[in-house]
Amino acid sequence: MTMGKLIDGTAFAARLRGQVAEKVTDFVASQGRKPGLAVVLVGEDPASSVYVRSKGKMTVAVGMESLEYKRPADISQDELLALIDDLNKNDAVDGILVQLPLPKHLDENAVIAAIDPAKDVDGFHVVNSGRLAVGLPALVPCTPLGCLMLLKDELGDLSGMEAVVIGRSNIVGKPMAALLLAESCTVTIAHSRTRDLASVVHRADIVVAAVGRPEMVKGEWIKPGATVIDVGINRVPGDEEGKSRLVGDVATAECLGHVRAITPVPGGVGPMTIAVLLRNTLVAAHMRAGLPAPEGL
Ligand code: NAD
Repeated sequence: MTMGKLIDGTAFAARLRGQVAEKVTDFVASQGRKPGLAVVLVGEDPASSVYVRSKGKMTVAVGMESLEYKRPADISQDELLALIDDLNKNDAVDGILVQLPLPKHLDENAVIAAIDPAKDVDGFHVVNSGRLAVGLPALVPCTPLGCLMLLKDELGDLSGMEAVVIGRSNIVGKPMAALLLAESCTVTIAHSRTRDLASVVHRADIVVAAVGRPEMVKGEWIKPGATVIDVGINRVPGDEEGKSRLVGDVATAECLGHVRAITPVPGGVGPMTIAVLLRNTLVAAHMRAGLPAPEGL
């Protein structure tokens, strides 16, 4: 049995960050300031704190300004909206990212709606999801855009391919389906109510799994030669007692004998998200400065 290829998301993301860093140098030379990314962290969720720290480091590494706003878990809705309003008005800020999830007493939709769509580098504002849906230039959610970059790098033109996206969240599944449709794929969105998921997945040339269920997609579901993008990040008990490990939504080892290519977890989609966030911040900075979109990104 021939084995499929493991797609190296870590290497791709490093290349993308390198390209962003080069264009940041040009931006600084022409504008006399660095692009700025503001990250708002409410509360002290350990996973979110780690993620925000790593975003900050990578933002600085590509030559951008990183602004962090840490607020206590009991911040009121009005105080948070006032902070977003300040950031909207702050000319040094090109991108605003509010780390999700927010504590339960805060209205996530209202907070996202308060972000200036031109600074919405997460691409979650309805103006940006609407623009994506109707095919206008938009800031697009980072994880699905990263998945699309990996797919185009592996497959080239995606036109006419059969794509199945498993999961219909606003963060991953829905924007992923919109991006694949824009590439002229025939797109199916599968979800928790889908009947006979195995046979739906078996039609696909491209499978994107964004569910949050460890190794749910089995090797025998995969059409021979398909390309599989595994977005899931699930922590499961490790071999050693007390240790855990990360697995995706796809049974990777089983699938390797069936696929053309597949993203591993970790080291596949994960590293792409922050790299695309930096790319989106650069795109937002260009748009706000009235410059054409940065080429090749
Ligand atoms: P979500 O919980 O918002 O959505 C999960 C989706 O899966 C839902 O639409 C649901 O209908 C579907 N689903 C649930 N059970 C199913 C089943 N049995 N069969 C088919 N579909 C089913 O999750 P999300 O925010 O879209 O994230 C999905 C996964 O991707 C999670 O593991 C998350 O940690 C991961 N994720 C990774 C990154 C990254 O940077 N790599 C970014 C975002 C999310």
